[in-house]
Amino acid sequence: MKIPFNKPYMTGKELWNISQAHASGHLAGDGQFTKKCSAWLEQRIGSRKALLTHSCTAALEIAAILADLRPGDEVIMPSYTFVSTSNAFVLRGARPVFVDIRPDTMNIDETKIEAAITERTKAIVPVHYAGVACEMDVIMDIARRHDLLVIEDAAQGIMSTYKGRALGSIGHLAALSFHETKNIISGEGGALLINDAAFAERAEIIREKGTNRSQFFRGQVDKYTWVDIGSSYLPGEIVAAFLWAQMEEADAINRRRLDIWDRYHAAFATLEGDGKVVRPVLPQDCTHNAHMYYLMFPDLAARTRVIERLKARGVQTVFHYIPLHSSPVGKELGRAAADMRNTDRAGECLLRLPLWLGLEEQLDEVIAEVRSAILEG
Ligand SMILES: *Cc1c(COP(=O)(O)O)cnc(C)c1O
Repeated sequence: MKIPFNKPYMTGKELWNISQAHASGHLAGDGQFTKKCSAWLEQRIGSRKALLTHSCTAALEIAAILADLRPGDEVIMPSYTFVSTSNAFVLRGARPVFVDIRPDTMNIDETKIEAAITERTKAIVPVHYAGVACEMDVIMDIARRHDLLVIEDAAQGIMSTYKGRALGSIGHLAALSFHETKNIISGEGGALLINDAAFAERAEIIREKGTNRSQFFRGQVDKYTWVDIGSSYLPGEIVAAFLWAQMEEADAINRRRLDIWDRYHAAFATLEGDGKVVRPVLPQDCTHNAHMYYLMFPDLAARTRVIERLKARGVQTVFHYIPLHSSPVGKELGRAAADMRNTDRAGECLLRLPLWLGLEEQLDEVIAEVRSAILEG
């Protein structure tokens, strides 16, 4: 058996769309395909405005510029996340303040956020791990009371909901990823979602190298010029054309992923009952997008044994993250707000299983291999 951890799904329509972009002669950003994709996001997520970017990292960087951070300002976030969550703010001179995660969802523990707030705190960045929502009502309430900005890292959260609201529609700003390891893909790609209209105009300018080019093309100004700091954050039309093929099939992709997730979940129920593993927890009032299936092992040694055994049988599994508070840069530029025990535990004990469209046919075999790798003790 040879089962990779990830295999990018293609709908079959991508190359046709790219040929259409090619035929149109518009290859730079913000052409017809970009417009279709951003309209889809605005409609499906309910954001005021969606701006396609070349990555989620880029969207987070725009959000960090919009947050108007001064050197030494603090941004609260989990340590159990991908480096981009933190890098975007560090690039503005801000200091990440890491808060521990909840042991059930692996999301930032909302009950520990308030104790991490200081005079320098400017923003909170909740990360919806595995596409399962953070406790957003509590987080938004804390932000309101302390006058903080909330930027959702919804890189993994497209099409998931929290109390009926789409992830990415709740914070002032949010970032999505279309990296090939995510649910809806364009190789590299992302989007900035703007829910607080006050940020819309400036976001557009920052994304267009600090120019008012978008206003110029809408006829709102008669020449375009350098009006703010910025960079080149937009994807070309070839990428947007690819992405549009995926968005058109987003509901079917989501359903198929959920089927795989449900089969895994049912298959490992008895192992959980026997205390061998702990399965993911889904809070009530949340729907998820089957971005990831993971198991928690009792300790690092147990996880390592299972990884090695599965590797020998051709099944690739991966773990993450090395918590940011224990990484070289995180130690130098950030600080842990308090005890990080759940973060450290997830970093040592969590294992992600393969989950991609097309795996269905071999899923029973994969499940059998995982089960026997665990039961060997
Ligand atoms: C994938 C991911 C990112 C980065 O996305 P890119 O599109 O690769 O820049 C950021 N944060 C989280 C939580 C992610 O999972």
